[in-house]
Amino acid sequence: MAQASTEFEAIIGLEVHAQLATRTKMFCPCPTTYGLPPNAATCPVCLGLPGALPVPNRYAVELAIRAGIALNCTIRRTSRFARKNYFYPDLAKGYQITQHDLPINEKGWIEINTPNGTKRIGITRIHLEEDAAKNLHGVGGTTDTLVDFNRAGIPLIEIVSEPDIRTGEEAEAYLRTLREILMFLGINDGNLEEGSFRCDANISVRPKGSNTFGTRVELKNINSFKFVRKAVDHEIARQIEVIRSGGTVLRETRTWSSTQDKTISLRSKEEAHDYRYFADPDLPPLVIDEGWIEEVRRTMPELPSAKRSRWQKEWGITQYDAQVMSIHPMVADFFEKSASLLWQKLGPEYPREKAGKRVANFVGSEVLRFVQSDGLQAEFPCTEEALSELLALLERGQINGKIAKDVFAIMVQTGKMPQVIIEERGLVQVQDEALIERTLRDILAKHPKELASYRAGKKGVRGFFVGQAMRSIEGADPQLVNRLLDRLLESIEI
Ligand code: ADP
Ligand code: MG
Ligand code: ZN
Repeated sequence: MAQASTEFEAIIGLEVHAQLATRTKMFCPCPTTYGLPPNAATCPVCLGLPGALPVPNRYAVELAIRAGIALNCTIRRTSRFARKNYFYPDLAKGYQITQHDLPINEKGWIEINTPNGTKRIGITRIHLEEDAAKNLHGVGGTTDTLVDFNRAGIPLIEIVSEPDIRTGEEAEAYLRTLREILMFLGINDGNLEEGSFRCDANISVRPKGSNTFGTRVELKNINSFKFVRKAVDHEIARQIEVIRSGGTVLRETRTWSSTQDKTISLRSKEEAHDYRYFADPDLPPLVIDEGWIEEVRRTMPELPSAKRSRWQKEWGITQYDAQVMSIHPMVADFFEKSASLLWQKLGPEYPREKAGKRVANFVGSEVLRFVQSDGLQAEFPCTEEALSELLALLERGQINGKIAKDVFAIMVQTGKMPQVIIEERGLVQVQDEALIERTLRDILAKHPKELASYRAGKKGVRGFFVGQAMRSIEGADPQLVNRLLDRLLESIEI
């Protein structure tokens, strides 16, 4: 297999289909709920029965506008629905309602992170369309194919990129960035396995320095991030190999086979004119006025990249922590609400950055592993109020880090508030100075050899004394132990 080449470069453009997170379908009031019994969510419109008329879903249009704004597109004041004609069992009408010559959004871009810094990837267009039904092959061990129309008519946006992507790595970065933006804006639930976020990759190669494109192959249905990079890089290598060995790359549709670890041919590619697109006579032009766009802009949720830079400034957390805290939109909200509550509890003189860091650390190391996410939803092991209460006790020195972790584990199991657990189990940190000092004096007196070697310059022995004290007073405040020990070691009497 040919490796990354110095003679050739790859040209990649991605088409992403993202289901819009609406409650009802694009042109009828059927629910979009995933996992209903087959054909339970259907009506004459989405079954394509004769005479049924489509009515556009206003919220779907609003989400498409939101996507256009987020991806820096020009939003068309008048766009148009078109019929894309073809026959397939999952398409009862014999055509799909989509947008063709006048899509709702055009000419945008997003920025992705690459090993050589940020790179801008152009967005050619974003158009609105309806999803097709789902063919189920070989149900119950038969050779039959059954059709489930629950998916038919679910609103989609198709996001078509410019051929600006050059490697499998960039393709993956683009998809991850796009998915994150759509999820944070509540446009799409980002679920690759359930197919609500799907990607096709167009790939061609050309000699370096050439300014024409080679013949492209379309890689269908890349449904996992694990395979994006691999599939794209394999296809690039395959095409280079074909050209090197004197062959020509065919215009075709291929798919990634994860069992064979290579791309395989599905069919030769149809051309646009095969679909005989025309404006759908059942639907008037889609007119969007300035006021609506302004309203959508005003009520847009914050973009994930903006959130991360704001957090680094306002909450003093590192870029890495900001990345972790923005792993899911609900985690982002959980982090920010917990940090605000903690800061409120500790009072305005308390440094905001300390509250932010404390929450980011604890969420990253303790809370996240209990978070269950499903699409745009996520379940947390405790409330923001409970977490901030626990961390306030820790910041005030009433409990130490070890006890905080133990209390958190009990909170997860019982759902009780931290104060209740601490009282019930007597876990308050020991801050009795007299007791700690007495214990330390005792320890130093019992270990004259260690004390002598400390005095002779072996500073590491200090940790031994702290350990001894922590062991003999369960729940001792480690800060206090350290302070009192320092004082004793400096004094001459012992
Ligand atoms: P189609 O309907 O044939 O899939 P689209 O216009 O919807 O065509 O999508 C074309 C996609 O392929 C875009 O993302 C575009 O950037 C990309 N593309 C176009 N030409 C090439 C090429 N020669 N090599 C790689 N990608 C290409
Ligand atoms: Mg296409
Ligand atoms: Zn319906």
